[in-house]
Amino acid sequence: MPIATIAKEFSFDAAHSLPHSDGPCKRLHGHTYRVTVMARGQIQPLDGRAEEGMVLDFTRIKEVFKRRIEARCDHQFLNETAPVERTTAELLAAWMLAEMRAELPQVIAVRVSETPSSWAEVTVDDLRASGEEA
Ligand SMILES: [Zn+2]
Repeated sequence: MPIATIAKEFSFDAAHSLPHSDGPCKRLHGHTYRVTVMARGQIQPLDGRAEEGMVLDFTRIKEVFKRRIEARCDHQFLNETAPVERTTAELLAAWMLAEMRAELPQVIAVRVSETPSSWAEVTVDDLRASGEEA
């Protein structure tokens, strides 16, 4: 079976502030965040199991995202609820990637968009290169 990359997109509303920023993000404000979770792997053989012909069932990505991430982010003040030192899109993406990989090792990247034109992406290679994951 070939290797494939799949992605599932989520969105939630949340408030945050970046206390040391020079820009308007210093003040309390909100975003409709969009998060794209990407997974990659070999398509599973057609052997009668539930995930045959898939890399990973989209519903499993959704279940893990809602339980591990959305519950701590949706309509929350991220500075208080997200376990990151600063609530930048970059650090949120790194945290979300580690959370997703704790249960779904096929997840290889997470992209966090604060606006339609501003996003940050962290990949598993980025985590490894920075020593965040062995
Ligand atoms: Zn912001």
